[in-house]
Amino acid sequence: MERDTSVRLFGDPAKTIGARAAGRTVLRARTVVAGAALKPLHDAVVVIDDGLVSAVEPAGPEHAVDVDLGDATLVPGLIDAHVHLASDSGPRFGGVPDESRLLLLAISNAQRFLRAGVTTVRDLGSPFAVGSGLRDGIDTGLVIGPRVLAANRVITITGGHGHHMGLECDDIGELRRAVRQLAKDGSDWVKVMASGGFVHARRSEGDAPFFPLFDLTEMRMIVEEAHRFGMRVAAHCQNRDAIAVAFEGGVDTIEHCTFAAKPQAVLDEALVRAIAERGTFVVPTTNNYWLTVGVPWAPKDVALANLRRLYDLGVRLVAGTDAGIPTTTPDLYAEGLRVFAEIGMPLTEVLAAATTLAAEAVGISDVTGSITPGLSADLVALDGDPLTDVDAYNRPRAVVVRGVLVPLGPGWQRAPGRGAGQ
Ligand SMILES: [Zn+2]
Repeated sequence: MERDTSVRLFGDPAKTIGARAAGRTVLRARTVVAGAALKPLHDAVVVIDDGLVSAVEPAGPEHAVDVDLGDATLVPGLIDAHVHLASDSGPRFGGVPDESRLLLLAISNAQRFLRAGVTTVRDLGSPFAVGSGLRDGIDTGLVIGPRVLAANRVITITGGHGHHMGLECDDIGELRRAVRQLAKDGSDWVKVMASGGFVHARRSEGDAPFFPLFDLTEMRMIVEEAHRFGMRVAAHCQNRDAIAVAFEGGVDTIEHCTFAAKPQAVLDEALVRAIAERGTFVVPTTNNYWLTVGVPWAPKDVALANLRRLYDLGVRLVAGTDAGIPTTTPDLYAEGLRVFAEIGMPLTEVLAAATTLAAEAVGISDVTGSITPGLSADLVALDGDPLTDVDAYNRPRAVVVRGVLVPLGPGWQRAPGRGAGQ
């Protein structure tokens, strides 16, 4: 007999504490991938108290199970370390310049992520302060959504990549002011465009992907000032020199890391080895492009070979889709994980790239990233076993964020406790 847990949704203050579910919920599943080691436990329960995991253990008669997930595999809530929530994935990356509409779009995208099993996103660029506004609305329980880490506006040069959602800076003084503005706006992260990029309507020099936009002195100042204000720094890098400036400047994560060049992308192995040795996280923004139409900076086989080389040399690769760019919608999150599987990354490491390692990369492994007592109850039940079948990520059966069960629509009605999905 299952208790009705569907009332534990947002909008009922008696059942939530801010964004967290109140009271106890016990979930049971055939397999629970438990702890920081991502070890499968068979026929196990996850006990949730006030939105936090309080126990993960073999199921026994003492457990009053609220939701039996049948033959599903319960894994940590997934993390997308690189998104743009205030963008509509339409052909004109950036959306409409109106704050209230952008916020609605961001809420919608955030909830689409949640339904795809993604319980944490790092928003690496939105106009205004949409990212931190949404984060606060979710954290206080105004709207349901994944945990959001926000960069808000990006730092770029005048007319440079992302300027439609950016603070345009052309000297040290402007850069310092921009970092302080981002702190004032409530940013968790500073996103700096260390190079131009590929997704944009216009092609000024500052927009082109083949040159760095800032020098080492400027990058060091950005990082130092951001760290002083308690923010971390993510650098968008589409070429070798930009990667070198970002890495030597001490950024916390390197985004894209593509080594784009004319006529062809060329990996700098010495630089990659240095990145691996220091343990700097790289978010290569694997997504639905990679295995279908291909990426804009290299033929498919070259892009995959370069990514494989980063992996082989020991770079810590993290899942992030760049959702918000044309055609990359939140629903396609799992396509990025498929790319990792395609280069031969073992499936336990694929799961780590989307959970434990991603949480570490974005700086919240003391909050989420694994099913561990004391951490937030952020979970996704997958139909199938993601440790043997990467397609399982496309089949979320139930999603829990901060202990709150997320309604998934008709699929949610069908699945719990009925061993559906055979
Ligand atoms: Zn991006």
